Amino acid sequence: MLVIDEATCEALVGRREAFDAVEKVFAAMARGEARNFPVVREALGHADALYGFKSGFDRADMVLGVKSGGYWPHNAEKGLTNHQSTVFLFDPDTGRLDAVVAGNYLTAVRTAAASAVSIAHLARKDAKVLGMVGAGHQSTFQLRAAAEVRDFEKVVAWNPHPEMLPRLAAVAEEIGLPFQAVEREQLCAEADVIITITSAFEPLLMADWIRPGTHIACMGTDTKGKQELDPEILARAAVFTDEVAQSVTIGEAQHAVAAGLLGETDIVPIGMVINGDHAGRTADDEITVFDGTGVGLQDLAVAGVAARRARERDMARQVEL
Ligand code: NAD
Repeated sequence: MLVIDEATCEALVGRREAFDAVEKVFAAMARGEARNFPVVREALGHADALYGFKSGFDRADMVLGVKSGGYWPHNAEKGLTNHQSTVFLFDPDTGRLDAVVAGNYLTAVRTAAASAVSIAHLARKDAKVLGMVGAGHQSTFQLRAAAEVRDFEKVVAWNPHPEMLPRLAAVAEEIGLPFQAVEREQLCAEADVIITITSAFEPLLMADWIRPGTHIACMGTDTKGKQELDPEILARAAVFTDEVAQSVTIGEAQHAVAAGLLGETDIVPIGMVINGDHAGRTADDEITVFDGTGVGLQDLAVAGVAARRARERDMARQVEL
């Protein structure tokens, strides 16, 4: 069995590898060859923590496993990341534990890869301005990944806590993109692509602000009750997701569906677009929304890449159970 630490994951799985792995597993999900199992997520009643499992099996790539972890809100005081994840991979032929893979970096890089996949397949080719809503841990990964799939010329950004924006500005500067902190309405008026990656529980962007032709990758809403968009945006948009079952229960679409503005069957798995079974964007003035809820198979896909590469390059510890 391999043990792969955070630093080794960073060395082995770059943005390109994560993009390819996530695109491939979304496609396998849409073909019915990869399946996520029901998610377990529980409040522990200790340390204010949320703890859970996301698991699944990708028959196309022969990856079986589980990501375990959650959110410990007081970790920051201890110098630790609040979100904690570990991936366990099993041999699909025998059930034997194959690898234990650190999951914190992989979670960020796979989440950024998901929105980048959505931008690559759904945003207008001539998109020039990227709007960032959110400036937390995930946001810099999101910005870097998005910048690799369109020729953006500028970043406009807003965050409920403006003091967090300089970190995002520094990354924009590093990758050579002018950065401007703006109000939300201006962000929507300027941006061709918007990424939302906050922990909001109420709509941050309103339908009347969104210009025709905008693509929104809505990435922050991954739990019942969270919300980043006015449900009317989804009513007016072509809506895509990683997995419909999660989109309507824990994703952004939960609100539009509950309000009767959107039906479950209106939501298209992005894998269908990747496989060429759905056209995706059909007009330059169409608004597209990607409801990125975060599925276990994304974690297993990037952890699988880490394990394969670690083996090839002899870069992980071998342990016998
Ligand atoms: P973080 O704690 O580092 O940053 C939180 C962000 O949300 C900051 O921009 C902060 O200003 C903002 N925020 C905090 N409280 C808010 C509130 N009440 N209303 C509006 N905004 C608020 O978190 P992170 O790691 O950057 O994660 C951001 C979000 O993305 C979280 O909701 C997290 O659960 C979610 N997430 C989703 C996926 C996925 O696959 N879809 C994966 C990882 C994280």
